Amino acid sequence: MTDPPPARAARQLLESLARSGVTHLARSPAPQPPEPQPQHSEPDDMQVTSTGAGERASGLEVLSEEVVGCRLCGELAETRTQTVFGVGDPEARILFVGEAPGADEDRLGEPFVGRAGKLLDQIIEACGMRREQIYICNILKCRPPGNRNPTPEEAGNCRRFLDGQIAAVGPEYIVCWGSVAARNLLDSTETIGRMRRQFFEYAGAKVLCTYHPSYLLRNPSAKKDVWEDMQLLLADMGITLTGKSLKRS
Ligand code: URA
Repeated sequence: MTDPPPARAARQLLESLARSGVTHLARSPAPQPPEPQPQHSEPDDMQVTSTGAGERASGLEVLSEEVVGCRLCGELAETRTQTVFGVGDPEARILFVGEAPGADEDRLGEPFVGRAGKLLDQIIEACGMRREQIYICNILKCRPPGNRNPTPEEAGNCRRFLDGQIAAVGPEYIVCWGSVAARNLLDSTETIGRMRRQFFEYAGAKVLCTYHPSYLLRNPSAKKDVWEDMQLLLADMGITLTGKSLKRS
C-alpha cells in the first residue's frame, strides 16, 4: 500500500536522518534554476533590512562581550563553565532559538553541539541547508544546573541579549525549538503541539515553533511532525534552499 503523503514524508525524513546525507528533498519544493535569484520581499516593519554584514557582526560582537560579563542570574553565573552566546551567519535569513546550553554546550561554548545538536544538524541538512547558514542561539546564555528549565526570572534577565541578537541579525524567519523557546519568545502558555504548524510574528520575522530535538531523541515518532513544520517553512520561503538562496539577495 502506498503511504499517504505525511507518512511518506515522515518515512523519508527518518531514512534521511539515518543516512545523514539527504537527497529526497530535491523533490519538494521543485528545484529552481540557479539564476536569477529569487526576490525576497522583506516585511515593512523590519528595522534592519539595510544593515550591512559588518554592522550585524559587530552588533553581535558587542552583545557577546556583555554576555561574557553578565552575572544577573547568580546561580547560573556561579555554576557555568562559560557563557554560550550564539553562532552562525550574522546575515542569516533564519534564526533558530533553543532553550539553554546543556553540558556539552557549556563545555564547548557553542549552542547545540551535543546529541540534540547532532540531530538538529541532520534536520538542517535534510532541509538542504548547512548549519553555518543559520544563526543559532538560545533563550538562556548560561547552562541551568542539571539542565533544569530556565526560570521566568532567568529568561527575563537574558531577554535583552536574545532581542539584541534578533535585532542584529534581522532574520526573516525564526524557528523556536521546543516549548521553552516558543513560550518565552512569544509570551505564550500554549503547548508546543498547539503552537506548531503555523506562523507567528515577532520583531518583523515569521516565527515557526516545533518540537525540540531532545524531545525527538526521546520520541522519534514526532520526527514526522518536525518534518511537516520544516516543509511549511521551506514552502513559505518559496525556494529550494541552496547555499546562495539562504543569503539576502
Ligand atoms: N538544547 C538547547 O535548547 N540548546 C542547546 O544549545 C543545546 C541543547
